[in-house]
Amino acid sequence: AALGLMLIGAINYNLSLGEFEMGALQFRRRSKFTEDETVILEKLLCCLLYPLRNALMYRDALAMAQKDALTGICNRAALDESLRTEVCLAGRHRTPLSIIVFDIDHFKSINDRFGHSLGDNAIKAVVKCAQHCARSTDMLFRYGGEEFVMILRNTTLNGARLLAERIRRKVEKLECQGKRKPIAMTVSAVGAALETGETAQSLSERTDAALYVAKNGGRNRVCVDER
Ligand code: GH3
Ligand code: MG
Ligand code: MG
Repeated sequence: AALGLMLIGAINYNLSLGEFEMGALQFRRRSKFTEDETVILEKLLCCLLYPLRNALMYRDALAMAQKDALTGICNRAALDESLRTEVCLAGRHRTPLSIIVFDIDHFKSINDRFGHSLGDNAIKAVVKCAQHCARSTDMLFRYGGEEFVMILRNTTLNGARLLAERIRRKVEKLECQGKRKPIAMTVSAVGAALETGETAQSLSERTDAALYVAKNGGRNRVCVDER
């Protein structure tokens, strides 16, 4: 407020193009703005509007390319990038890194029995449930249709196992709205920890193989891939 007293010159602009809102711009100074100065400012602002809108739309498009439209979480493209980064960071800082992979069991049959739209809701419910189980620093990705990956920074294999088991138990108890009664769901999950010097690709391959074991072992179970 003390500063405000000294600032006599003030002009406010709302930046928008049609429906597209781009925020506000305020000019403040000690002396008033003259008519001529205002004209110049407004001419400059006109030059700013379109490039600014294009830059913001480009930023939004880049962000959207990393997001899954159904669930709003990050997609596979984002996973590939993040996993490579996290593997490098874990190697450099010598901190543990683990991942969890989980896949909804017999999801095809859920779609067949309840329809695609309720199937979509079921996927969203599993995502919410997994997010609820995890820490805010754990990163969840939709890897494929009904398969998800979580990157766990600073987490050992045992931590991954505990979280995977928590997700498994929560999903089993999930009451996702079906036609008349709730849709019963289970997931099969895998936990694996990055080995010293291991690549992101090798870690992914190990979890793929372990998920296959969990599925063949009867589903609704957690497997850990210990080396
Ligand atoms: P498993 O226990 O071996 O994992 O069996 P599954 O039926 O879950 O596995 P499968 O890979 O055969 O089928 C996955 C199904 O997931 C098939 C596909 O139609 C469905 N699916 C994939 N993406 C979506 C989606 O976005 N919405 C809905 N409703 N279904 C999806
Ligand atoms: Mg499945
Ligand atoms: Mg699958």
